[in-house]
Amino acid sequence: MLNLVPTAQEQLKFLKNIQLILQSGSFSSTYKFALLISLSRLAIEKGQDSGDGLALEYKDIAEKFIELYWKQAVPYTFQEESKLILNQNNGKQAAIVNRITLLRQTYASLGLLRRDSLVWFSLLKDVARTVKEMPVRYLQNISSQNFEFLYQLEKCSKQLILLPQVMYCLRQFSEIIEELCQKRWIDYIRKNSSNVPILNKLPNLEQFMFEPNRNQLNAVAHVLVELQECKCFYCNRPMKKGNYAVDHFIPWSMYPSDTGHNFVLADSSCNSKKSNLLASDEFLHKWEERNETQDLIIVDRISVLGFLTDKERSHKVADWAYSQAKENGYLLWSNKL
Ligand SMILES: [Zn+2]
Repeated sequence: MLNLVPTAQEQLKFLKNIQLILQSGSFSSTYKFALLISLSRLAIEKGQDSGDGLALEYKDIAEKFIELYWKQAVPYTFQEESKLILNQNNGKQAAIVNRITLLRQTYASLGLLRRDSLVWFSLLKDVARTVKEMPVRYLQNISSQNFEFLYQLEKCSKQLILLPQVMYCLRQFSEIIEELCQKRWIDYIRKNSSNVPILNKLPNLEQFMFEPNRNQLNAVAHVLVELQECKCFYCNRPMKKGNYAVDHFIPWSMYPSDTGHNFVLADSSCNSKKSNLLASDEFLHKWEERNETQDLIIVDRISVLGFLTDKERSHKVADWAYSQAKENGYLLWSNKL
């Protein structure tokens, strides 16, 4: 069966439906936000711009959950003794967060946890089960009515199968969906009264919950200095110590998830000029070539810092970003301007 790309009207309807479940659905935990974000990221990493359905493995969704919650499960210490972690649930802490909190005591980074394959796979399995039993079952539930526009629950026992046209719409609107979900997620955390003592200590909640942490990025910089022989990725000029920044090749504003192959090192000047823009095609080729030739080093040295490092997926994200740019007429940045 041929599945057509959704019409403009169908796409708008889809976006309205996303807004409807975010607005009218009941949220007893933050799992539903994590699920929508995960589906939209996986549609980009695993899908394509067609009207077809897409089958997603529960373990891939679980991996996205772990990445999201790992960042947010950092404990905050108060008056020496008491430690607090953002409560992601209406009542007691959410099960996935408890599981991750416990593992954080043994593993300093997500990368180290991933390398302990026995523990990692058992975590994936447990999280996948929770995802399937909780948010997947209730996401499309609005005042006890099932409103199945993303997937049909009864067909999702082994994999989560996105209905035709859904993958296309998720890819089309992922920036909007990410932003909506993050905003609602932050609101949920703020309104949860058990979080009050922590919120005062976290002036920038958005940064804490979703953005990469400084120490991790400094460690990435350390690896890239070596890989690039301390020259700027964009202008190739030698860089002075401290005068460089880790740049998200595909800008964070387009795709707010850190993947190991997406990092390059740029001098402050190129970094600030590129800002939130995509780099021009010549840099895309240079980046792809860098990833081909240095794949093994990147996988080896950056995954251990806790980042997903999968060249195929990073390149799929880039394909998506550049085709979005073409379609929507985004400005590309070139250092020749
Ligand atoms: Zn430069």
